[in-house]
Amino acid sequence: MRTMFSGLALMGLGACGMMFSDGDAPEDTAVDPSIPRAEQPADCPTESAALQVLGSGGPIAEAGRAGTSYLLWIDGEPRLLIDAGAGSFLRFAEAGGKVASLDAILLTHLHADHAGDLAGIFNTGGFEGRTDPLPVIGPDAAPRFPGTGEFLVSLMSKESGAFAYNGGYLDGTENKPLLEPRDIETAEGSAAATGLNVSNDYSVMAIPVNHGVVPALGYLIEVGDASFVITGDQSAASTGFLEQLTGSQATILFAHHVINGEQGQPRGLHRTPGEIGMLAGAAKPQRLVLTHNMERSLGRISDSLSAIAEHYDGPVSVARDLDCYAL
Ligand SMILES: [Zn+2]
Ligand SMILES: [Zn+2]
Repeated sequence: MRTMFSGLALMGLGACGMMFSDGDAPEDTAVDPSIPRAEQPADCPTESAALQVLGSGGPIAEAGRAGTSYLLWIDGEPRLLIDAGAGSFLRFAEAGGKVASLDAILLTHLHADHAGDLAGIFNTGGFEGRTDPLPVIGPDAAPRFPGTGEFLVSLMSKESGAFAYNGGYLDGTENKPLLEPRDIETAEGSAAATGLNVSNDYSVMAIPVNHGVVPALGYLIEVGDASFVITGDQSAASTGFLEQLTGSQATILFAHHVINGEQGQPRGLHRTPGEIGMLAGAAKPQRLVLTHNMERSLGRISDSLSAIAEHYDGPVSVARDLDCYAL
């Protein structure tokens, strides 16, 4: 019997996010959702699959929120890191993450709020004595955006990398674990989904999404008959993603929550709350988690929840850093 949350969460020990509309979270519903979290880290359950939100924030530096990052736990082991936004290096350590036990690192796209701490996380992996190669899987290239492999070269090439001293990660020398980059075709969100063979314990599908001109991916992670879905940053032009999820009965859908058109925020990069609601209405997850949160969006959370509720009537949570969602 799978449960939506760890027992810790239901006991109010802070392992889950703020919840709305399901009536079973008396402790958290009284909390102002605009208050960022700065508590002791939560523990994910050790006997099930869980997705921990390492960073629940976006590109604007705000207290208590790192940039976007997730850690997949399987039976108490950290197995997948998905994104490594600015600040996630610290959250990775607070959560108990280890590069040595990762099957792969997945990237939704190469905006700094999703990839800014990668160099630090690779670097700490070198101190753990990992010897197995580590796949690093993300989007392909487009103008002004390198592909995933090219990005690693720009960071660590022995000839021209910003951290050339860490060039051993690119060829497996100098006692560094070899990084194995893989570019996934995105075609502005119109390419076909790609199955990723990173583990026998769970399956991962990389699904191209539209994030304006930015090559970008969402991810579907299936563990047994349950699943986590990460939208990544995506606009409503991500029709292939919607089709992939329609009828999929995702267990927990993590949607990146941004108010379009704010100052400094180009239009057409993200789903509006109503468009997140449409996605949730089609995928029918057992829970919708809003993450990639910022004050500008949390300040209008009531409006967002109303817009979502027009299409989706299931429970909604607002993620904070280190919240853990168990299957
Ligand atoms: Zn973002
Ligand atoms: Zn982005």
